[in-house]
Parts: sequence; C-alpha cells; structure tokens
Amino acid sequence: MPEQPRIVIIGGGHAGLTTALRLRRKLRAGEAAVTVIDTQPHMTYQPFLPEAAAGSLEPRHVVVPLREALRGCQVLTAQVTSIDHAQRELTVMLGDGKVEHVSYDVLAVVPGSISRALPIPGLAEQGIGFKTIGEAIYLRNHVLSRLDIAASTRDEQLRRRLLTFVFVGGGYAGIEAMAELESMARYAIRSYPPVSPQEMRWVLVEAMGRIMPEVSPPMSEYTRQRLEERGIEVKLNTTAKSFENGHAVLSDGDEFDTDTVVWTAGVKPHPMLEESDLPRDSKGRVECTAKLQVRGTHNVFSAGDCAAVPDLTSSDPDALCSPSAQHAVRQAKVLADNIVALLRGEPLTDYKHRYAGSVAGLGLFQGAAEVYGVKLKGFPAWLLHRVYHLAKMPTASHKARILGDWLLELPFRRQVVALGELHDPRAEFVKAANTRGLPGPNGRAAG
Ligand SMILES: Cc1cc2nc3c(=O)[nH]c(=O)nc-3n(C[C@H](O)[C@H](O)[C@H](O)COP(=O)(O)OP(=O)(O)OC[C@H]3O[C@@H](n4cnc5c(N)ncnc54)[C@H](O)[C@@H]3O)c2cc1C
Repeated sequence: MPEQPRIVIIGGGHAGLTTALRLRRKLRAGEAAVTVIDTQPHMTYQPFLPEAAAGSLEPRHVVVPLREALRGCQVLTAQVTSIDHAQRELTVMLGDGKVEHVSYDVLAVVPGSISRALPIPGLAEQGIGFKTIGEAIYLRNHVLSRLDIAASTRDEQLRRRLLTFVFVGGGYAGIEAMAELESMARYAIRSYPPVSPQEMRWVLVEAMGRIMPEVSPPMSEYTRQRLEERGIEVKLNTTAKSFENGHAVLSDGDEFDTDTVVWTAGVKPHPMLEESDLPRDSKGRVECTAKLQVRGTHNVFSAGDCAAVPDLTSSDPDALCSPSAQHAVRQAKVLADNIVALLRGEPLTDYKHRYAGSVAGLGLFQGAAEVYGVKLKGFPAWLLHRVYHLAKMPTASHKARILGDWLLELPFRRQVVALGELHDPRAEFVKAANTRGLPGPNGRAAG
C-alpha cells in the first residue's frame, strides 16, 4: 500500500488550528496524515488576552490544548528553525534540544507574527509585549503588585513611578489591553488605601494622529474621548524616545519615571521565515497567491499574520489582507479546502473576504464597535464584542468555560490579587535550602 501523503502545519495558532480541524473533517480515512508543529502545546485565542489580563477570564480558558483539540493528528511541541523547500524538509528543534528533520508532501506555513520592537534605548530592559498568555498573566500580576508596593511605601517619588503605566501603540490590541487593565486597576485600587485612583497615571503613546486605524475616524475619536474621560492620557503624534532606567522620554517633551512599559506598536512576520527559501516581500511576509499557495510553489500554502495575501475585495490591485484573526481563520478554511483539492486533483479556490470591521472591549460594560459600517458604542458594543468572540472561540468546552467565567463575575466581581510567586516559584525553596546550609554561630551548618 503506498504511503499516505504527509501534510505538515507550522504553527497551531488561529490559522494552524483551524486548518488542522478542517483537514481532519474533510480528509477521507487514510487520504493523508496531518502533523501540527508548534512551540507551545496550545493555541492562544489572542482577542481574549486583555480580559485574561484583567481577570475577567481565567487564563487557562483562553488557550486551547492542541493535543486535546486535534485528536487524530500528530502534534509536535517543537520549534521549526528553518524550511528547506528545495528538499521538502524542515529543521525542527525538539523540547530536549535535539535537532531533527521533518519531511513533507504538503506544507502550511502559519507561524504568525511577533511584536515589532524598535531600537529605543531601554525598551529591551523595561518593555513587555502583549501577544502571549504568559505576558498577559505577568502584566496582571505586575500591575497589582505595583499597587501593593505603592500602598505600603512612604517614598513619594517611588509611589509616583509605581503608579505610572505607559502603553506604546494605539491599535485595537493596545487599546483593549490598556483599557481592560486600567479598568481592573481602578476597581482594585479601592482595596489599596491610602492609594487613591487619582494618583494613578495611564499614558497611551501613539505615533499617528489617531488611535484604532481599524475603525473609521469618528469611532476612533469616540474611543479616544471615552478613554480621556476615564483619565487616560492619549498622546497622539507622539513617539517614545527612551525608557532608560525606567525614565520615559517622549517626543512631546514629557518625561517621567515608570515601572511599566507595555509595547503594542504593531507586529512583524515571524523571524523564523528568514531561515527559509520561500519568497518573501519587503516586510518579510511570505508571498502568496489568492489561492494561498506560496508563489512559485504548488504544495506550500500560507495564511494569517505571516502571509502577504492579495485582498481581492479592494480596487487597489496591490492591496493585501490585514493581519487579524478575522482573516487568519477564514483564510485557514480556504487553505484546508485547497490542500484537499490539490490532493484530489481538483481546482483550487481564491480567498476573498471583505474585512467586516472591529469590535473592541474597553473594560467592563464599555466598548466600541464598527461592523460593516454599523457603529455601536458603550454597552451594546461591549456585548457584541463578547458575543462575537464567544462564538469564534474554538471548542464547545472553552465556550462553556468562558461563559461560566463571565456569569460568575456578575455576583462576585473580579478577583484582584497578584500571584507574584508564579514568576519565581523556586524562591522560597532556595531560601529554605540556603538557610539550612548556612554555617551557624558555632561554625556548623544551622538546621
Ligand atoms: C491582544 C490582542 C487582541 C487581538 N484582538 C483581535 C480582534 O479582536 N480581532 C481580530 O481579528 N484579531 C485580533 N488580534 C490579532 C489576531 O490575534 C492575530 O491576527 C491572529 O492571531 C493571527 O493568527 P495566526 O494564526 O497567523 O498567528 P497566531 O495565532 O499567532 O499563531 C501562530 C502560532 O505559530 C506558533 N509558532 C511561531 N513560530 C513557530 C516556530 N518557529 N515553530 C513552531 N511554531 C511556531 C506560535 O506559537 C503560535 O501558536 C489580536 C491580537 C492581540 C495580540
């Protein structure tokens, strides 16, 4: 019996998980074997990261374990370090550090994007991105622990620094992250006397003349006004010049100390793609046709944040689809269908989807949404944001868990406690071991 063709998917995120789920559904028994390789054992539903950071959602509920969701597929928790398409082979670093080669007949390249950092002095030391569940959990604990320290210190200068939070980048991801965390901190601070809400300073730095370029100018302006009403400083046409030693210097001349710099100023295609012989555009995205085939190949496909996919709905022939979950998931469905069509010798279809718009949660009961030109503000927008993302969340069990989190939040409100030990779990044990090992007053080890 001839061997089954091997389909390998690099990345189990929005595009990768959707591709694998659809392939599993569409392929006949024995038609092909599917392998998904991801550095993480789970898919992260990124649009829910702000709510996970704010404590409205349990972090485990916004990630989908790949092995559980993809029974019937091979799941490899490993890092793809290079793609040699000439040899139809990937180089993969396994969890134990060993390097292996994985061959494929059909390849789906969907490793997404990473935060696009700039060479700003101090950013690497002070900044933190907002794309992973680890970053969301860290930020929640970090913000709450700043309140804890601020409530106990008598040092006024330190207190001001601890209570100053800076976000750089005003796309919807940055705005949602900041709005949710600010809303959480404002709620939490009631339990932190003598610190008062007025002492907190939240600053959003945006290089362009408006925030949320994904929505129309009036909605962007509406969102800015709502944030400013809450006391958030929105600095437009402003760039960050330096964060050295926690001292922020902005292009408008403002300078202040801060303990919290969150970098949400855009994304760039995953740098792993630099180690591949696939064609890439000037921004590093994999060049694709509208059929999602990588240009110059017939058996390599790409989609999502890492791919330059023509936007067939635009009158501009050079227009590309924007990096969003909305496109990634829809592209993945066409990608999977085209892989099946390729295996069966059937014609492939084009990807065509008009960007529907954006829904953004801005903290409990507050939101801004613009879908197919229809604008919603405040509570209806917030509700739409929740309903839309709940519908899009993969697996029934995750939908149920998320709904449960939201319902529990109504009578019991948010749980605001910093679990700082998460980030240094061995500290207590090391202290205990060192204490036992310390020489006592008589020269022998104490214990
Ligand atoms: C805070 C936030 C809020 C957002 N809100 C929205 C929203 O409301 N609406 C919307 O449409 N979009 C939203 N987005 C954007 C959306 O999440 C992304 O566009 C989407 O995740 C892209 O999907 P993807 O599959 O290309 O990449 P991802 O979902 O990022 O998946 C890529 C996967 O590849 C894996 N990977 C990377 N490199 C390797 C490697 N070398 N080897 C193996 N595996 C690898 C990663 O671990 C990851 O699991 C938001 C993003 C953020 C950060």
